[in-house]
Amino acid sequence: MIQPVDLELAMEMAKTPEGKSKLAYAHGLSVYNPDATPPAPFDECPEPECSICGIIACAYDEPFHFHHDGCPAEAAIEGMVGLRVFHRRADMFGVVKVIQGKLAFVKYEWPYDPAADAVEVPVSELRPA
Ligand SMILES: [Zn+2]
Ligand SMILES: [Zn+2]
Repeated sequence: MIQPVDLELAMEMAKTPEGKSKLAYAHGLSVYNPDATPPAPFDECPEPECSICGIIACAYDEPFHFHHDGCPAEAAIEGMVGLRVFHRRADMFGVVKVIQGKLAFVKYEWPYDPAADAVEVPVSELRPA
């Protein structure tokens, strides 16, 4: 039986994978498999653009993940690849090479070292520069 969940509570729960599993349970989904593509079985939920299912399914915890125009968080974040960004935690500028889930791989501009590896940075710590 699908149950409503408060959106703010859902966002809070979604911060950890364990929390997402609990959220799926609280929402009434019988199984939550984050590795299925798309994560299964959201067809249990009668609401095709359900924001709780969206938060559970989305790598960026975006309530509009199942929006009919596509996930706004994914569109914005995928658009960051190749962009110059500012990493506020490290106080460094760099360029995003790859994005994997909530992690970006950023090549810092300083110290200048063409052979240096890209650094793993949470996407939430980056701003377009
Ligand atoms: Zn749902
Ligand atoms: Zn999404």
